[in-house]
Amino acid sequence: MQEQENTDSFCVFWRNSLVAKFVSLTVVVVFVLMSISAYINYRSQVTVNVSNLKTQNAMLGSFVADIAQESMLSHDYNSLNNYMQEIGDGEDVVYAAIFSPRGNALASYVEKRNTFVSDMINEKNEVDAKHIISRLGKNRQIIHLRYPIIFDKKVLGHFVMGISKVRMQAQSRNQLFSTILASTLFSVLLGFGIYVVFRIYTLRPIQQLVRGAHRVARGKLDQDVKVYSHDELGRLAVTFNQMMQHIKQTSQEKDGMLNQIQEMNLSLEKRVEQRTEELEVANQKLEKLALHDSLTNLPNRFCIQDNLNRGIADAKLSGSTFAVIMMDLDRFKEINDTLGHDCGDQLLVAVGRRLQSVLRPTDLIGRLGGDEFAILLPDTDEQGAGIVAGKIQSALDAPFNLADMAFSIGASLGIAAFPRHGNTTSILLKAADVAMYHAKNNKLGYCIYNAILDIHTPDRLSLIMELRDAIHNDDLMLFYQPKLDLDTRRIVGLEALLRWQHKDRGFIPPAEFIPMAEQSGLIRQLTYWVISTALLQLDAWHRAGLGVAISLNLSMQNLQDPDFPEQLAQLLDQAGVDNRFIQFEITESVIMSNPGHVMGVLAALGKMGVSFAIDDFGTGYSSLSTLKRLQVQEIKIDKSFVMDMATDKDDESIVHSIVDMAHNLGLTVTAEGVESENTLKQLEKLGCNMIQGYRISRPLPPDRISQLLRQSEARKATTHFTVIKGKNNSD
Ligand code: C2E
Ligand code: CA
Ligand code: CA
Repeated sequence: MQEQENTDSFCVFWRNSLVAKFVSLTVVVVFVLMSISAYINYRSQVTVNVSNLKTQNAMLGSFVADIAQESMLSHDYNSLNNYMQEIGDGEDVVYAAIFSPRGNALASYVEKRNTFVSDMINEKNEVDAKHIISRLGKNRQIIHLRYPIIFDKKVLGHFVMGISKVRMQAQSRNQLFSTILASTLFSVLLGFGIYVVFRIYTLRPIQQLVRGAHRVARGKLDQDVKVYSHDELGRLAVTFNQMMQHIKQTSQEKDGMLNQIQEMNLSLEKRVEQRTEELEVANQKLEKLALHDSLTNLPNRFCIQDNLNRGIADAKLSGSTFAVIMMDLDRFKEINDTLGHDCGDQLLVAVGRRLQSVLRPTDLIGRLGGDEFAILLPDTDEQGAGIVAGKIQSALDAPFNLADMAFSIGASLGIAAFPRHGNTTSILLKAADVAMYHAKNNKLGYCIYNAILDIHTPDRLSLIMELRDAIHNDDLMLFYQPKLDLDTRRIVGLEALLRWQHKDRGFIPPAEFIPMAEQSGLIRQLTYWVISTALLQLDAWHRAGLGVAISLNLSMQNLQDPDFPEQLAQLLDQAGVDNRFIQFEITESVIMSNPGHVMGVLAALGKMGVSFAIDDFGTGYSSLSTLKRLQVQEIKIDKSFVMDMATDKDDESIVHSIVDMAHNLGLTVTAEGVESENTLKQLEKLGCNMIQGYRISRPLPPDRISQLLRQSEARKATTHFTVIKGKNNSD
């Protein structure tokens, strides 16, 4: 385990250390080279030694051959044996023997301690020298020498000798080993020496450079690398230091720039923050401006539409209902025109406040523009909205103080509910708008949307077509309602009132189809039809000796129609009646919607000899100055004041002042909607000139009127009138 770890750490050291690689390579190379040289040396040593051995023993052999002659000749074998024994004492001699020419061993010596010999003796139990020597002759580890013993050119025998190479070889091997050992030692020492030199002169500067490079890598640039020499490594160290200085300088410059950038970044961030805050404030202001009406500070049309969109989405999810009220002030234009825009603005602000005071905090009130307001009532159906509409009307009943005067201002409200009357913002707003116009045109206060009201519904469109056909086909009728002169108690006038008995739909009241005709433009044809029909009838009555005047209602559109005066002149011409018996009724609100224009038209028409009455007086807020300049002869007090005047003191005093004012202006006064004897008497007392109403007669068809006119002629002098029960399908 320990060993394994050591090898591992050595491997790591070797792999990571240049010096280790270099030193080990050098040591190996030197060692291998020295070993090779030692081996070569060893080989040549062996050869030399063998030849030396041969030479030394050759001399001995020649000598023995010389001295053996005598003993051979004298057959002194003892001496021969002694010689052999002496030779055998020589260190490396394995055997020595003298053979006769026949090959018999005359004297011999065999070194029994020699391993080759002892092996042989042990192996074969050999004892015969001749055999031993002949067998050793094949052994290459032994140098075999043979010398002839010659006397007088006659071969007496041979001297043979075997010299062992083993000792000599062992010596040489030992020498080889010591040489290798010395080489190893030398290599190690050399390696160590190289290592020391390398370490001091190469490795140390390189390590310094490596440490320096590490410091640079860590960004520490303040410590130079030590320069140890002037050689290449020294120069490298100097260049390294220069490079480090350069990097240091560049990095300091970079740091400086970075600091600058950071500072700039900080100030930029601050400015962005400041700018964002400013933008947020501006945005909030803009949002308020974009979604609020600057005058009343109420949500504007966009805000209302946006809330409606969201309300629809929420209601769809929760399955709830909600209502939209569209409100239009009734007399705003008059106040604006007479008191100026500042007062108008004050009034709108005050109306906004009153609305807020009667509504719940969850209701949303907005101003859509002009005198138009919208109210969103969450979780409310059309009936609930009707109650709210009533509350709004009562809230607006109390007069507003403008320019040190108190003004009453009414409002018309239209109600549409989600999802009954529409499931999109535009449809709901339109439905509320249609309902509002219906309420306004019919003075209903408020009205809940109904598809029949809507000119744009398919039903309405078909009704308009049917009305057009009715005009062409004479399917309409004129009923007449008498006007009684309170002085003479005679019927002096008749108001022509349109009646439409639809073949499928039954009776359709004029309050329903006249606004439709006004919106669709059919009112022109309708009015011409009324005028020509009424003139024909008037002519007929006049011819029958029933001298009565006729009153015809005109709409705004008629007065705005540039062709109207000419068309009227033509109709009057054709009828050939006395124009003094013809009166046109124009409602006070129509007059006040554009007094200048109406004044001009009345002046033009007046030239034809016809007269004019202001219809529905008291509902339109006309100013005295306008009244004075208008070429009208009569005022018809609106029935809303007359009907309850017997019981309502306020109504009575209003009627009273209207009568007085009209008389002061030199105008005659007709009171409409007289339903009771009491009212009749009251009006008589107030000095009212004429009365019209169910107390005298409901609107009746011409034949019934003819009857009535005749009765009236007959009973001129009587003071009592029986109420004539008319077949009036409107009431
Ligand atoms: P208006 O001109 O104010 O007509 C008087 C209305 O009062 C008539 O309603 C009449 O039936 C009703 N009336 C009369 N006496 C009494 C009464 O004692 N009590 C009550 N509660 N009502 C009474 P009508 O016929 O339904 O007409 C409604 C409106 O339709 C008229 O109001 C007028 O503005 C319009 N109209 C009718 N015919 C014509 C026409 O030929 N042309 C134009 N432009 N409008 C017309
Ligand atoms: Ca009228
Ligand atoms: Ca009227």
